[in-house]
Amino acid sequence: MTGKLLGIAVVFSFCLAQTPAETLRGSLRQTQGKPPVIETGGRVISLAGEPETMAVLGDHRLAGADLELHGEFKNPALFAVGPFYTSKSVLVHKNGKKYTISYWCPVCSIRTYTPGKCMCCQQETQLDLEELK
Ligand SMILES: [Zn+2]
Repeated sequence: MTGKLLGIAVVFSFCLAQTPAETLRGSLRQTQGKPPVIETGGRVISLAGEPETMAVLGDHRLAGADLELHGEFKNPALFAVGPFYTSKSVLVHKNGKKYTISYWCPVCSIRTYTPGKCMCCQQETQLDLEELK
């Protein structure tokens, strides 16, 4: 009896640990001096997220990209992007495939997850899309 109850409790707490996952798919629109937004079906959705996530979404190399964002709608016009560390909260759709976003310095062979200069040689890192398998 005790064992059975414990089993139920474990399953229950596991369910609570799952964040409500919603998906937003659309084109990334960037306007100078404004936060990035997603345009989908004629609607414009504002985005919120961690600084690292917003840095990626503000990367001009991703302008117009077909993005799939995982997180939750705070209201119909605002989508909060999920945790940055999972690296799967922001995905790129391209040629029928999904890609994760990261940045690569070919000089130092260092991978980072936000756009900017390489921590080692201070050169601008390259946008590197990796196919999600
Ligand atoms: Zn480097």
